[in-house]
Amino acid sequence: MEDLDFEALEVALRQQVLRLAGRAVEQRLNADTSDGVGSRLPCSCGGKSHFVGRRPKQFHSVLGPLRLERAYYHCPACRRGYFPRDRQLGIEKHFSVSCPHAHDRYGRRYGQLSRRQ
Ligand SMILES: [Zn+2]
Repeated sequence: MEDLDFEALEVALRQQVLRLAGRAVEQRLNADTSDGVGSRLPCSCGGKSHFVGRRPKQFHSVLGPLRLERAYYHCPACRRGYFPRDRQLGIEKHFSVSCPHAHDRYGRRYGQLSRRQ
């Protein structure tokens, strides 16, 4: 018992639990393809956006990185695309890691976050 580092054990277990929880969230969200129902959705420009397919993207979360597959729609009228689920979950900009200028809700750049992890 003398060599037992309680803090190290705690930290390691916490990370494992968070990773497991992250996997569960990932699986649940990726299994739910209800965001891709319907081949067309009304666009904010007044046109119709078309379902293109499901696109994966990695997001940062308190549970660690999550790889989410979301339905992608594109509007030929205004040439803009969007992900209904990103809007639904409120992760459209905040949790994007593919954009180098993205910030999290605390104003930290994701580059800084990933370096720290
Ligand atoms: Zn449009």
